[in-house]
Amino acid sequence: MRRPILVANWKMNKTASEAQAFVEQLLPQIDAQQEIDIAIAPPFTALDRLGRTLGGSAISLAAQNVSAAGDGAFTGEVSVGMLVELSCRYAIVGHSERRALHGETSQEVARKAVALQAAGIRPIICLGESLREREQGRTLEVVGKALEQSLAGVKAEGSDALVVAYEPLWAIGSGRNATPEIAQEVHAFIRQHLVKQFGTVAESLCIQYGGSVDPENAASLMAQPDIDGALVGGAGLQPDSFAALIKITAESAG
Ligand code: PEP
Repeated sequence: MRRPILVANWKMNKTASEAQAFVEQLLPQIDAQQEIDIAIAPPFTALDRLGRTLGGSAISLAAQNVSAAGDGAFTGEVSVGMLVELSCRYAIVGHSERRALHGETSQEVARKAVALQAAGIRPIICLGESLREREQGRTLEVVGKALEQSLAGVKAEGSDALVVAYEPLWAIGSGRNATPEIAQEVHAFIRQHLVKQFGTVAESLCIQYGGSVDPENAASLMAQPDIDGALVGGAGLQPDSFAALIKITAESAG
């Protein structure tokens, strides 16, 4: 039985004080003990304040990106060590916006994931196909190649080693989520790939779905056998909708 994981990716939204206000509204709406893992990925500038506000709650801290380099002359970058000191439990790598707007390659994603694992931070490795690739019938080929390259050198010694987030590009921020059947087909393919690379431990690894998840569509997505939670953008920006998603994800675990 996998423990689902729900992560809010705030992207470039919310100042540190807005992040604190969000959590102060959210925590009274959720149970202190959860059957699921929950995390929020705020902008780097809010990580410290958010971490202090979350305290010992059921919600962990996640970063939206990290550098694969240790330290040194990398203007504008943030290192794994900096995230460790802030007690980040997760870091998103290879989000489609980083790939599309910042030219991040799967090879770079793999280096980041390896560096995170070495420091005990769980990478959330994102990948997915474009609308054009789907229409050309190339989804599994594209996802397979991204998996092969983004997971190079990555280890999976236990269920908490890594998370894969399947995020079809055409579903991100579009209001058009993948149907549960479409998502399940790709998740099952990803699971097979993980089994080939890591062996039986892959059965315990979480594969999140991301792309226009909201409180209306979340339950049917999470009812699928290989969908183990969600990575959410828009629906993670309001305390009420995120609280609703936490409840739905917890029900899918029960
Ligand atoms: C995302 O950015 O990872 C995402 C899934 O966004 P949204 O939920 O808004 O589609």
